[in-house]
Amino acid sequence: MSAPHLDVLAIAAHRDDVEQTCGGTLLKMAQLGHRTGILDLTQGEMGTRGTAEDRAREAADAAKILHVSFRQALDIPDGRVENTWENRLKIARVIRQQRPRVVILPYWQGRHPDHYTCSIVGYEACFLAGLSKLQLRKEAAKQAGTSPKASAALEGELLDHPHRPFKIIYATLYYDIRPTFVVDITQQFEARLQSIYAYKSQYTDQEAGRNDFPAHAEIRERIATMAGFYGLLAGVKYAEPFVQKEIGLVEDVTAIPVKSI
Ligand SMILES: [Zn+2]
Repeated sequence: MSAPHLDVLAIAAHRDDVEQTCGGTLLKMAQLGHRTGILDLTQGEMGTRGTAEDRAREAADAAKILHVSFRQALDIPDGRVENTWENRLKIARVIRQQRPRVVILPYWQGRHPDHYTCSIVGYEACFLAGLSKLQLRKEAAKQAGTSPKASAALEGELLDHPHRPFKIIYATLYYDIRPTFVVDITQQFEARLQSIYAYKSQYTDQEAGRNDFPAHAEIRERIATMAGFYGLLAGVKYAEPFVQKEIGLVEDVTAIPVKSI
């Protein structure tokens, strides 16, 4: 049980999804002293621009800017994120190893199938990770065709210790729905923008995908408009939107933030 557990783990389909939807929140949590991490399900080999290697390097740069302590990309095929037993187990392994208290998933509806499928497969993996009778080392060995002992050495003891995150919240920036809460990222906005610019293969001006990608100069305006809209809903300059399925619990009604009239 060596590495300290994560407080917050954001799971997303593609490298740069987290930067776009909840990067400011992750940075803010790190600045508050929490240990944060990112799990990307795919490596980005289907992207119009750049190779998977470019994106790996860029993802590492972005992770530094957001002060995350852990980042990993699984080998699920890009454009083919499916809710299969194997994929659930791959994510459940990371959840048991990193033991996050909070998991951030993408919202469960959207345009890109990888995004909404990530939401479902991520939720089901959180559930599986908490089942005490599920032995992930054995399952890993079955998949890898090696002995349980060999995979134990590879993947560590924690794999067979159940862990279920306390809280799951959904980042909704990719979908037009009213959030249940927003996180004020006014102080983190510039760094979050830099973490998006770190994906140079995606966001520098070039011919490939010119119709699908905003010009570099437009990116700032787009991101500021979105963050500004969600900020406005809560009376702050910039914010990121989330949905939680559970009801909000209040201790002191005089301390509820956001002015009514
Ligand atoms: Zn994406």
